[in-house]
Amino acid sequence: MKKDKILIIDDSTAQAEHLSSILEDDYEVAMCHTAQGGLSMAKTGVWSLILLDVVMPDMDGFMLLKELKDTEATKYIPVIMLTSLSEVQYEERGLLLGAVDYVAKPFSPVIIKARVNTHIQLYRYQRQFREQAMLDGLTGIANRRCYESGSREKWQEAMRFGLPLSICIFDIDKFKLYNDTYGHPAGDRVIISVARTVAERFRRSTDLFARYGGEEFVAVFLGSNGKTAFEFMKSVRQEIEDLHIPHNSPICDWVTVSAGGVSLTPNAQDSYEMYLKLADTMLYDAKRFGRNRVVWLNENKEQWCEK
Ligand code: GH3
Ligand code: MG
Ligand code: MG
Repeated sequence: MKKDKILIIDDSTAQAEHLSSILEDDYEVAMCHTAQGGLSMAKTGVWSLILLDVVMPDMDGFMLLKELKDTEATKYIPVIMLTSLSEVQYEERGLLLGAVDYVAKPFSPVIIKARVNTHIQLYRYQRQFREQAMLDGLTGIANRRCYESGSREKWQEAMRFGLPLSICIFDIDKFKLYNDTYGHPAGDRVIISVARTVAERFRRSTDLFARYGGEEFVAVFLGSNGKTAFEFMKSVRQEIEDLHIPHNSPICDWVTVSAGGVSLTPNAQDSYEMYLKLADTMLYDAKRFGRNRVVWLNENKEQWCEK
């Protein structure tokens, strides 16, 4: 297993090195002797814990701690404050600002090791919990909650940078019939196959793909125009059909999906909900036009419909 990384921010080189020597057998330790430098290292690295000195010449530890807790990338990283005996009154302030613990100088190697181990373990559980809260239990892909927060971010980003955005909803065809014919557990396996096959295609960090609920999925594309998103979803539809999962449906011998999408470059008058609803209307049309197809409303409000 890879070692967890710990960042020590302390203006005293001797103190930092002493701490490092206590921890370096079990952890990968990095040191920084200025608050500003420590802050930028904290923001750019992947840390499991930060040990932070309270008194430093260029910025005090509290300000740095507040900055870490106010920054998305660093707010969950546990911070242990380092205080000397004369600074005991600072503990209260540090804990209120979000430090998980403090350690009084001079250090007892045994105590510091024990506290660090505890917080690193807790952070592992917390990370695991946060990750799982964003994943769908059946398929392992992003869940509705992840989609809700991700889609809002993408929408904001599209507005801020004037980028095109597409929203697509797709749904397995005649799936009730599938369950009725092959049983619910077999239905679950189909949902898993479809989810994983499509997830494989969504590798760009600018795109989002999630299980919306039941046998419905949702995708958000940021930065590609309507035509590109439409073509992409057509190829996804084909790929699902090509899995050749037998289905006694009136549509096709195999499991198929229908998709509805909409593309636009959003501005302040637009609302995400309105466009999501339009994507849903396109999905409804795809079902109505015979299923196993992609229906799209492009930037010029023209409808494309193709297999
Ligand atoms: P359409 O082509 O119009 O989409 O028809 P459909 O039968 O797929 O749509 P409908 O909404 O009538 O039925 C959806 C079915 O999906 C009903 C429900 O039992 C099934 N379903 C939803 N979630 C799950 C799941 O997690 N596992 C399984 N096996 N089935 C599910
Ligand atoms: Mg369906
Ligand atoms: Mg449905």
